[in-house]
Amino acid sequence: MIRLTLKRGREASVARRHPWLFSGAVASAEGDGSDGHAEVVGADGRPLARGAYSPDSQILARLWTFDGRVPDGALLRERFAAARKLRLECLPPETTGYRAVNSEGDLCPGVLLDVYGETAVLELLTRGTEVWRPEIEAAVREVFAPSRLIVRETGSARDSGKSEIRNPKSELPLAPFLENGLHFLADVSGGQKTGFFLDQRDNRARLRALARGKTVLNLFSYSGAFSVAALAGGASRCVDVDSSSGALELAREHRRANGFSTEDPDFVQADVFDDVRGRAAAGERWDIVVCDPPAFAKKKADVDRAARGYKDVNRVAMALVAPAGWLLTCSCSGLVDADLFQKIVFSASVDARAAFVLVARQGAGPDHPVSLDCPEGEYLKGLWLRRA
Ligand code: SAH
Repeated sequence: MIRLTLKRGREASVARRHPWLFSGAVASAEGDGSDGHAEVVGADGRPLARGAYSPDSQILARLWTFDGRVPDGALLRERFAAARKLRLECLPPETTGYRAVNSEGDLCPGVLLDVYGETAVLELLTRGTEVWRPEIEAAVREVFAPSRLIVRETGSARDSGKSEIRNPKSELPLAPFLENGLHFLADVSGGQKTGFFLDQRDNRARLRALARGKTVLNLFSYSGAFSVAALAGGASRCVDVDSSSGALELAREHRRANGFSTEDPDFVQADVFDDVRGRAAAGERWDIVVCDPPAFAKKKADVDRAARGYKDVNRVAMALVAPAGWLLTCSCSGLVDADLFQKIVFSASVDARAAFVLVARQGAGPDHPVSLDCPEGEYLKGLWLRRA
């Protein structure tokens, strides 16, 4: 265990139970943190918190307890059981794919667990939780009892500043699961995130509810889950656009698995920025456009460039929306907050000379809770806009 003594006057954040301890707040360290355990004490030596130690990260420790309790197997089991209970209370029926543990949002900083039917994917996001892996894995098995558990350690790679974290290349079978009664497959070895974008469940449900008879253009489609939801809601046609051939292959599988046809022109492998320009030039109009790009801003220095990217793609996407049609536009960059995102979208609509009204805001579902102590955990913004 390592004891981290705070600089004088730097206790406020820990006193407010914020789970991130930045290295700049620490005056001195004592002991060996090789077991991943850190104790945080004030400048006067008073114990304040305990957590997982990541020596190479700017966030030197992620704090798990503020009452002197040591984060051990019993605490992990308690936290995971509480997380499980929340899901049982909130998830819709016929849904076996969900985020079971959401890091800070479930008071388990550095731990993500996504469940896809019988398969669970555990992601250890920090060096400290990587060191705690045996205890975390055991607690996951005990509380969630998955038939198959896949563990991904991404903490050390993050700490060493690798911006692109690739999933380990292994040939695991796809993990089947249900979402609101629809059949999906998570690509747990080669896919994005842990294999599926569970965070968009509520937006997919909303799309399904208003898709009857409508045409849908699904930009940055990944495995086409929005289109499957729209087709289930009676959409007349859905087109998926993504740069990844593997994602589009899975999108076809998803349509087949739900009994929908797979016509070649409905799967377009292209750069969305080019694709939408071509469509706008050709005068295309769609009843519903979904625009859900990857995070354009991964660090603070990216925010300006990201803002330009969001504005650019939204401006062209808006031109493609038919009168009285819809645009669902999303941003999953935590660094672009809700306020800034709405301003960017507004300025895109001015440039597009297209008036929209904001009908609803919809972020991630209840299986992605955000701790009030750590508002940084909120990242997904979805704006439902209707063309005036
Ligand atoms: N909407 C999806 C998730 C999107 S993830 C869902 O709900 O499942 C972002 C996707 O954008 C990835 O599949 C990635 O391959 C794709 N992508 C990233 N940049 C792109 C670009 N410039 N043009 C087309 N696709 C892009």
